Amino acid sequence: MSKAMKFLLVFDFDHTIIDENSDTWIVKCAPEKKLPNELRNSYRPGHWTEYMGRVFAYLGDNGVKEDEMKRTMTTIPFTAGMVDLLGFIGKNKEFFDCIIISDSNTVFIDWILKAADFHKVFDEVFTNPAAYTNTGYLTVQNFHTHHCAKCPKNLCKREVLKEFLDKQLEQGVGYTQIVYIGDGGNDLCPITLLKKDDTAMPRQGYTLEKKISQLSQDLSPLECSVLVWSSGIEIMSYFKLLLKE
Ligand SMILES: [Mg+2]
Ligand SMILES: [Zn+2]
Repeated sequence: MSKAMKFLLVFDFDHTIIDENSDTWIVKCAPEKKLPNELRNSYRPGHWTEYMGRVFAYLGDNGVKEDEMKRTMTTIPFTAGMVDLLGFIGKNKEFFDCIIISDSNTVFIDWILKAADFHKVFDEVFTNPAAYTNTGYLTVQNFHTHHCAKCPKNLCKREVLKEFLDKQLEQGVGYTQIVYIGDGGNDLCPITLLKKDDTAMPRQGYTLEKKISQLSQDLSPLECSVLVWSSGIEIMSYFKLLLKE
């Protein structure tokens, strides 16, 4: 394979790299490991970041400290085969650029990747910016504002991917193929950006797979190839095949 060939791997985080939702897992830090009903019921569709802001404020009010949150978050299990897959990508970085586009937040993803020593596998992480205040409260903000009617207010992954590809092109970096690995409903919008030589990899049995099959039934199938996965080992087999071509 020529050195000029480079693949772009785009990963979702929750339920793709890790086998859980990081925003749900943090509730383990709450008193009795649950949130009061009033808080739980305060979520409004499309406004997840604001909701998480209230969850973090509640944890702060209850004296949950940064080190306890970090300890809890770094016990989240990786999805089956992901440790092998990320290790493989790390060893083949000359062929792969690798980014995360996630609706989690910078603090959680940073903790989890660093604890497992995977942070160098990824060139960039696009997610909601989070930080601790000097009074010890975790705060989170919307990643950006966008004009996509299909996506939650804080994040359109398609716009993020488009901006990243444009930025790379400006620097003379084009990709032989883009592979998008995800599971959720908000991973569909970016996948509609993929072209015929690209590959969408939805996790088997999750929302994204269902939404993609719905598109085919509606006779508006995706332009890219679709390859369903259930473990990181299967994804790794596919990448090994790409490197041989
Ligand atoms: Mg996900
Ligand atoms: Zn969108």
